[in-house]
Amino acid sequence: MTIDIKKYISDVPDFPKPGIIFRDISPLLTNPDAFRHTISLMASEVSKLSVSAIVAIESRGFLFAAPVAHELKLPLVLARKAGKLPGDLVSVSYGLEYGADTLEMKSGILNAGAQVAVIDDVLATGGTALAAGDLVHKVGGRVVSYLFLAELTALNGRAKLGSTVVRALVQY
Ligand code: AMP
Repeated sequence: MTIDIKKYISDVPDFPKPGIIFRDISPLLTNPDAFRHTISLMASEVSKLSVSAIVAIESRGFLFAAPVAHELKLPLVLARKAGKLPGDLVSVSYGLEYGADTLEMKSGILNAGAQVAVIDDVLATGGTALAAGDLVHKVGGRVVSYLFLAELTALNGRAKLGSTVVRALVQY
């Protein structure tokens, strides 16, 4: 079955603030065929590489990373916004296309030398993904790939992610 993923991502101009075109994944999530197709493409991308764990970026990254980890029987590790995780944490602050934020991850959650795929819905400036990558490094893992549903190419976020493999299912 050929499914045009872009048909299931709607463009919302001037949200959450003027000048931003918000890529809304709600139509994709409400269409089971489109969602299953997306997860199967993402799982296929991850399975091309030697990956031992998936890191999911809060919050919409969770929606894609969890089914991919389930499909590939890989450990799922959460990179969460500040204040959500209990226990010993590592923390990285970063800039967003709109605003600033902090991501946290549990210390000791990844095995030393873990080979990680970081998953999120949208790659914009790359700040969020880079912060998740920094968390992975802090806890002793290595990012082998960053994987997104959509990439906003004009913002050139992939340049921030250096020589690591960066994949997105669709580009804008
Ligand atoms: P960035 O750190 O600039 O790459 O921003 C990526 C994060 O912000 C992702 O977690 C996205 O969910 C969200 N994001 C940024 N820009 C957009 C956009 N135009 N539409 C939807 N989500 C976005």
